[in-house]
Amino acid sequence: MKNVATPKTIDVVEAGVVEYIAPYLKQSSDAELCEASQKLSLLLQRTLDLDLMLTTFCEQASYIVPCESVAYRNDQHGLFFYHGDKHQNLCHYQLQLDGENLGVVECSSERNFTEKELMRLELLLEQLIYPLRNALLYHNAVQMAHQDPLTQLGNRGAYDHAVETEVYRADRHKTPLSMLVVDIDFFKRINDDYGHLVGDQVLKKVAQMLNAQVRKSDLAFRYGGEEFVILMTNTHSDAAHTIAERIRSKIAAAVVNIMEQTIPVTVSIGVSEFQHGESASTLFHRADQALYQAKHDGRNQVKAA
Ligand code: GH3
Ligand code: MG
Ligand code: MG
Repeated sequence: MKNVATPKTIDVVEAGVVEYIAPYLKQSSDAELCEASQKLSLLLQRTLDLDLMLTTFCEQASYIVPCESVAYRNDQHGLFFYHGDKHQNLCHYQLQLDGENLGVVECSSERNFTEKELMRLELLLEQLIYPLRNALLYHNAVQMAHQDPLTQLGNRGAYDHAVETEVYRADRHKTPLSMLVVDIDFFKRINDDYGHLVGDQVLKKVAQMLNAQVRKSDLAFRYGGEEFVILMTNTHSDAAHTIAERIRSKIAAAVVNIMEQTIPVTVSIGVSEFQHGESASTLFHRADQALYQAKHDGRNQVKAA
């Protein structure tokens, strides 16, 4: 019979964040600091959520190094996190792993950092690098999974998620919410007459024009094929209709030049406004019905539900 060794138990410490690091604080010995940084490393490995990871790091670092604020910036990913109140004495660290830029950490203090404090901070930053790289990879993968590669707009998955969130918010806070469903007219003909590659470029152009016409707070998605959805928070249907009309006329008037050919492009748009208690799919269905009416009435027009 085989001799089966008793398995070892690995205890995952479930202590609260402050309990973890606070005893080490700023006056700790090097050995204690080393232990604290290992515990920080464990804490950081618990999540792939960038916000949570960086907030944890910022909080914990300020227990160990006398700094009043810790900020993280990654321009490539458009990320910025901040903890504490910024003071005038700053130190910056550019984080790099295998030549890859992972962003910048900035700490501030009321007085100049000593050499010893900077060394402590560097020890803590070493614990951040690998978890941060993993979290950035995860963040990227999630972003890409929600983005349409052709138009760079949010895709159907992103729409499904966003519409549920916005409908919930509008219902709960009784705020207006409008939806536009935008469909390119006779797009099949564009593909047939100019080829699929040109068709793709038309989709890109239309997406750019949609983005240019909507406000920063509006959310634009490629719902599928040659159909787009725009969610307009805090917007009643009158205002949504006006914006839809502006989108329609701008696209109809635009000179779309692709591969030295001028392509006539128009869109039809259906508009709906959220009614208290209705579901996201009903809101969409009503805008889609209005779009159907716009198509039926001759295309290149806006219809409200
Ligand atoms: P309508 O005015 O009634 O909307 O007519 P339509 O031709 O635009 O609509 P239809 O649904 O008949 O055709 C849509 C076409 O869009 C068919 C499909 O091949 C094309 N399409 C869908 N996705 C893409 C894409 O990613 N690229 C290109 N080039 N064409 C696409
Ligand atoms: Mg179409
Ligand atoms: Mg369509």
